[in-house]
Amino acid sequence: MSGPLLSVKDLKKYYAGDRSIIDRLVGEEVDSVKAVDGVSFEVAEGETLGLVGESGCGKSTTGETVLRLREATDGQITYDGQNLLEMSDTELTTFRRRAQIVFQDPFSSLDPRMTAGAIISEGLRVHGTEDASQRRETALDLLENVGLSPDQIDRYPHEFSGGQRQRIGIARALAVDPDFVVLDEPVSALDVSVQAQILNLLEDLQEQFDLTYLFIAHNLSVVRHICDRVAVMYLGEIVETGPVDELFEDPAHPYTRALLSSVPRVRSDSREEEFATLPGDVPSPRNPPAGCRFHTRCPKARVACRETAPPAYDVGASDDRVATCFRADADHLYWDSEPIAENPNRSWGRVNKKLNLSAIVAPQLLAVSAESMTHLSLPGVIHLNCRLSVDRERRLLFTIRPVHRTIRITTARSVIAGTRQPARRPRVDTLTDAI
Ligand code: ADP
Ligand code: MG
Repeated sequence: MSGPLLSVKDLKKYYAGDRSIIDRLVGEEVDSVKAVDGVSFEVAEGETLGLVGESGCGKSTTGETVLRLREATDGQITYDGQNLLEMSDTELTTFRRRAQIVFQDPFSSLDPRMTAGAIISEGLRVHGTEDASQRRETALDLLENVGLSPDQIDRYPHEFSGGQRQRIGIARALAVDPDFVVLDEPVSALDVSVQAQILNLLEDLQEQFDLTYLFIAHNLSVVRHICDRVAVMYLGEIVETGPVDELFEDPAHPYTRALLSSVPRVRSDSREEEFATLPGDVPSPRNPPAGCRFHTRCPKARVACRETAPPAYDVGASDDRVATCFRADADHLYWDSEPIAENPNRSWGRVNKKLNLSAIVAPQLLAVSAESMTHLSLPGVIHLNCRLSVDRERRLLFTIRPVHRTIRITTARSVIAGTRQPARRPRVDTLTDAI
């Protein structure tokens, strides 16, 4: 197969608002909960993508919607090249075997009236492809695969510990021989001593059964061990993605930084404590803040962040290393902008008249203004994806990516080299059509 196993584009899932009696009496409509609001990501075959963020940010909704356990409000989901949202009933039945879920809570997710064997083989019974004795054989094998003993097959959930129940939940997911599994906080409800065992088991099973995982967690420390790539979610949106090591070593988004700095050294079960470093409460997903959704809690927020939703910036070497933050570029670099008219067919020259773009490099306080570029008249479509970085010669590189080409505007080196200069506007001295 070429391309990702799962591809999600601009996925939205809104829950319709429940109106209280008073709302109904006064005829008031209630905003829907924007649980997932424009999320895009891909999961390659055989990899583990971590989906991380505080409780309530929309992780489970994302996981359940990509499995079609919930209907998407909008967006596209492609699974193994097929449009998931337009599958026929037969295709959907096949998909349900191929994609499974393990839930967070091993206490409530297992039916207390069913034996371990019945729970594990339930999916096979529903799909009706094996007879009772074959199903029991499969359940016996799976019990061993997940580290339980075959003679526990006729026991009930209450006879197992938390970790053992989660092993049963995992065996249940594997019974139908899936290739993709959503693991929704599979270790959050378990004792610390048991968490590592379950994570190791999940890794072993991934190798043994060629599985692809979407691993949901509210805690970054769990993710580092098991994930290849990570997507960080905040209030229904993905704010940063990247390979796990790059993201841990060089987080670009202030929210990711806050999550990392709050990773407890000795694990605590209190979520409040884990996120103690972030001021304020998570705003309501019914009425998320304008601009960057994180600005109400962001220590780095600037005026632009309150007004404009930041685009996704490339922030690292890898293709998928992006962060949606105006400050997410190279260290201490950030820019401030006003929205430009969104007409993708406008030429640079026309868009430029509406562009009021300035970049400030701390601590040098260097301002680059687009006004100094007004004499430029370049064909091409402006895409609000502007990257700032400092090259080896300490020149500020200001990269704007139109759809068709990349234009590089380099500022005078002498200005960058200065320290703590008052804000001023350097002349744009070179313009190269690169790449
Ligand atoms: P997470 O898994 O990150 O904790 P969820 O996906 O469970 O987040 O929830 C995201 C948001 O959607 C929360 O504000 C939650 O209250 C809301 N939500 C979840 N399920 C429902 C539902 N069935 N009806 C209405 N709102 C819901
Ligand atoms: Mg959840």
